[in-house]
Amino acid sequence: MTDFRYSEIFKSIQGEGFYTGTSSVFLRLWGCNFECRGFSNDQPDRHDTDPVTISDLNDLPVISHGCDSRYSWAAEYRHLSKLASADEICTEIGDRFGPFCHQNSGQWCHLVITGGEPMLSQTAMTSILDSFAAEHNLPRYLTIETNGTQGLRPAFRDIITQLYQSPDTELYWSVSPKLSISGETWDQAIKPDVVAAYAEISQTGQLKYVVDNSEQCWHEVETATREYRAAGVNWDVWIMPVGATADQQHKHQEDICQQALKRGYHFSARVHNWIFGNKPGT
Ligand code: SF4
Repeated sequence: MTDFRYSEIFKSIQGEGFYTGTSSVFLRLWGCNFECRGFSNDQPDRHDTDPVTISDLNDLPVISHGCDSRYSWAAEYRHLSKLASADEICTEIGDRFGPFCHQNSGQWCHLVITGGEPMLSQTAMTSILDSFAAEHNLPRYLTIETNGTQGLRPAFRDIITQLYQSPDTELYWSVSPKLSISGETWDQAIKPDVVAAYAEISQTGQLKYVVDNSEQCWHEVETATREYRAAGVNWDVWIMPVGATADQQHKHQEDICQQALKRGYHFSARVHNWIFGNKPGT
């Protein structure tokens, strides 16, 4: 059986965007095609900690410069990742958190597959969804958090078409296109045709941009959104303040929120930061 690399599995609330506050199991898969060194990074060579000294992900301090999920893709954190088969991942989720439909409330906990960049791991996601279906514990609500750059592969498209077409189920695309403050280039980061193909297999989703309130950022939000709209992606836009820590976000969030409202967009805080401090496992 094939083993797949992942960073962590935990239950928390969705902290960002449309489903903020929703009870969710998170599966953070390993690997990313970007590095996003630009986020909150006035000191590009700064390291918050020496990963070699950490042996348990729960002991990792919040990474406050660059990508705050760096521990899910960077080589120096690989020793903190895990390998497991699709069946083992599904069993772990079932054993730790019970069925997605809660036995007490009858409410559905969502499954959020995140990263890193989970669309690099479509083979893993295909096998994992297959295993959940075989165990009669398919999450009714599935969110995929992606940077929107990786094309759909046929096997993944097929399993989504098979498992998520009934009106009782939902695949929700949470696409976070990376603007230039991330440090990534426009040509690599903004791929309207890729996201349009996602929208073809499920029409529900959001475009979620991280901004610093500069004119350049707002210009890029509007240009990118125009390009996604022209490709047929009509999801609502959510704006989030840059910053891994609550302090970093607080600096500009009121102004960014006002600006988002003025421009006709939704605003999203990162609520899990306020509640749990953005630690791994939250
Ligand atoms: S795309 Fe996301 S996970 Fe990948 S480096 Fe950028 S912020 Fe981090």
